[in-house]
Amino acid sequence: MKKVIFLLLDGARSDILFEELKKNNLPNLKKIIDEGSHNEGVTVFPSTTGPAYIPFLTGTYPGPANMPGIRWFDKNMYSKRKFDSGSHRSYVGFENIYFNSDIKKSYKTLFEIIPKSISIFNEITKGLKKSQNLTRNSKIFYKLLSHFYGSTIIDSSAFKKLFKVLNDDFNFYFCCLYGIDSISHIKGSDHSDVRELYKKFDDNLGLLVSKLKKNNLWNDSLLIITSDHGHTNTNRHFDLVDFCKSIGKQVFYYPLILQKFYKDFNCSVMVSGNSMAHIYLNENFNWSEKFNINNHKDFLNLLLKNDAVDIVAYKNPKEEIIVESMNGKAIIRDAESDIYYQPLINDPFKYNISEGFYSADKLLELTINTDYPDAIVQIVQIFKSNRSGDIIVSANNGYDFREKYEFPEHRSSHGSLRREHMQIPIILNKKIINDFPIRTIDIFSTILDFLKFNTKNNSVGKKLNIN
Ligand SMILES: [Zn+2]
Repeated sequence: MKKVIFLLLDGARSDILFEELKKNNLPNLKKIIDEGSHNEGVTVFPSTTGPAYIPFLTGTYPGPANMPGIRWFDKNMYSKRKFDSGSHRSYVGFENIYFNSDIKKSYKTLFEIIPKSISIFNEITKGLKKSQNLTRNSKIFYKLLSHFYGSTIIDSSAFKKLFKVLNDDFNFYFCCLYGIDSISHIKGSDHSDVRELYKKFDDNLGLLVSKLKKNNLWNDSLLIITSDHGHTNTNRHFDLVDFCKSIGKQVFYYPLILQKFYKDFNCSVMVSGNSMAHIYLNENFNWSEKFNINNHKDFLNLLLKNDAVDIVAYKNPKEEIIVESMNGKAIIRDAESDIYYQPLINDPFKYNISEGFYSADKLLELTINTDYPDAIVQIVQIFKSNRSGDIIVSANNGYDFREKYEFPEHRSSHGSLRREHMQIPIILNKKIINDFPIRTIDIFSTILDFLKFNTKNNSVGKKLNIN
């Protein structure tokens, strides 16, 4: 029986993994790479847990799936029914229960397509029977322990659960390992305690491989080890809510959402990761009016002046996307099958790309080795969600956008368009013949192809050619 075992090392940094491999600290992973393959891939924007799981499980981007961040605001819904549960969201907390139902209905998850599936510590469980979600009762407990107290038992617990069902009649195992991400936020992503978790993972990986081999499952199993985003250490917090307040905005934000019972707002800030944010603006406290950047130019200029702010993106009245940074300004036009890119003043990403139409794949190829891999395609996809901000902000390395109400304090962050957050390792126990750079979106089609399942999902990913 063919099996796909998907191990998601949430928040694992490609560079640290590489360093530890070089020091021979990850012997079991090294063996897998020697027999199989190790590629550097790119994740999606926002490069944060939750939205960045969408490509693996649905084959689409967070934008089309309508999940543009771990927090979002829906201007249209808020203007009509502000007390409706769908007018704003934070998946950090009790609103996490809406995760599955918030994903656009037309996208089926792998759990809906592959009936014999197992999920461990995963946010997206759409399509799973209760018995197949092995952490349906314990997830919150372990996650809180890990998030607030830096407990690392969540990963050993995940492997224990996986080992228990390894011989059972299942095709697909989606197993999330949260330890590295949690401890990175609390202590810094290059802390010795975090490096220790990479080693612990390697020990468990050794056990997993020996169990698969002992039970004659190894040859028919596709093992995928990857991550959903990287991390960079945070030196300074630039509280975006405080910034907006300081220039006179009435701001709607988490956790103080109950203010909507007695207050009107002309701004909302929704942070993810915490190195990206959606900013929503209106005039005269009216959320139903269409956004016009020309009425918010002062706000934009003040925003761009901050060292913490790297890239900002918004739509102009012609519905073209404008990207700005201290380095320059460019236009992005989504032309259905192609994307038109036009640097206006220098280039906001310091790319060396001339004006013209490009396919999404060509844009990845041209940008994969830059500081902003795949940023043009990623900005196009995120604006496909009507829950995205009027202005989307991506932070400079070393900064994040949330200080108040973030406990414990984040010493490392992710979510931005920067290479350090977007680059992820993709390790398979099989060789692949690949002539294109890999996106996490390609994993979905690869899993389906290996297990011989089909889908009607409108997936833009390409399958990897497994040898
Ligand atoms: Zn995180």
